[in-house]
Amino acid sequence: MRDADITVRVSATADPAAVRAARLGLLLRSLRDGGPRSRGRLAEETGLTRSVATGLVDELVELGLVSCEDADRRGAGRPGVQVRLVGRAVCGVGAEINVDHLAVVAVDLAGSVIAEARRGIDGRSLPAEEVLAELAGLVADALAEARGAGSTVAGITVGVAGLVDATTELVTLAPNLGWRDIDVTADVRRRLADAPGVVGPVPPVRVANEATLAATAELDPADADRADMVVLYGEVGLGGAIVSGGRVAPGRHGWAGEIGHLPLDPRGRRCGCGRTGCWETVVGLRALLESATDPDDPIRDPALTLEERLATLVERARLADGRTLAALDEVGSWLGTGAAVLVNTLNPGTVVLSGYFAALGEWLRPAVESRLAADVLAPRAGGTRVSVSAYGPTAAVRGGALVSLEPVLSDPTALAELHGGTR
Ligand SMILES: [Zn+2]
Repeated sequence: MRDADITVRVSATADPAAVRAARLGLLLRSLRDGGPRSRGRLAEETGLTRSVATGLVDELVELGLVSCEDADRRGAGRPGVQVRLVGRAVCGVGAEINVDHLAVVAVDLAGSVIAEARRGIDGRSLPAEEVLAELAGLVADALAEARGAGSTVAGITVGVAGLVDATTELVTLAPNLGWRDIDVTADVRRRLADAPGVVGPVPPVRVANEATLAATAELDPADADRADMVVLYGEVGLGGAIVSGGRVAPGRHGWAGEIGHLPLDPRGRRCGCGRTGCWETVVGLRALLESATDPDDPIRDPALTLEERLATLVERARLADGRTLAALDEVGSWLGTGAAVLVNTLNPGTVVLSGYFAALGEWLRPAVESRLAADVLAPRAGGTRVSVSAYGPTAAVRGGALVSLEPVLSDPTALAELHGGTR
């Protein structure tokens, strides 16, 4: 995006402060995505005049978000000051509440991970308060680590495997956790305010569906095939998100993307939601584990993290264990059957296998592709590419961290209000 686009977008408000904020954000994104540059090149590439860009860069320096350094004159031959992002200055925290694990990550403006933690839980038998207390503890540790690294936390976004009401921000329903109308943001905010390690005001806390956050992590403005995309987020159940025109489509109330409950197998298993034969009953991690292992298999120990479980499954698949491979083939085939429904409906450029599917993509993708080839009406499976997520089970927390950083990228002056808080 160039300055002209931003000026057109915000000019309706006729508010110089809004134009300035948007331009500061434009420079920050440009430095994040394109690396260090001279002021002149930065101005040229963002469509700003040189004098405007210089003033804005000075403001970003004052906010501690960029630095200006003398370039190495010996090698480049062209002296000049390079404007560079200070990624560490600010970070976003993403957290995830899933049926069998909690996860937290702090990602800075440059995309580097500052703090990371995962813990296996048995979310089905623990009361919501205990799950939230445990999560708040992990978040408090991440806030302390970020502070120790000299990074201001812009916000905390908690992803939950369930429906999140876009207006009330309540977790309306999380069938696999047995949750109804839980106010996660208020609860986490209160616990963090009381946590001994948290210094100063608690950064803004938000809540979102975890698959929606996972899809945010998969967005790539440089890849046209990802502007229209379906993200399949495999966990104990199956989360999903639909990206249309480069944005995650929330639906009327924020409840879109509940593809895990597409009724695909009417004579199938009972789902956590109370219905029968939902897609997630045949492709969720629970289904895979039931098919690939016996009840007393150590892999089913609730204390194990998802990574530990997946590492064991990958090892068995690599050793060509017949039962594991048959289970993966079955899950892959069901995954493709449901994906074909979505590809026929939406004609996405990409279907992303994210969450636990990513670790097992080597075995799942061929089965998905062959089902798409067979079941999609449009030629060449509608031109849809099947991609394996680079983030896998960390996509939701990463997306949460990115969403938390968004207010600073939209208006870097917002950072001034956060300073003195968690820094
Ligand atoms: Zn269901």
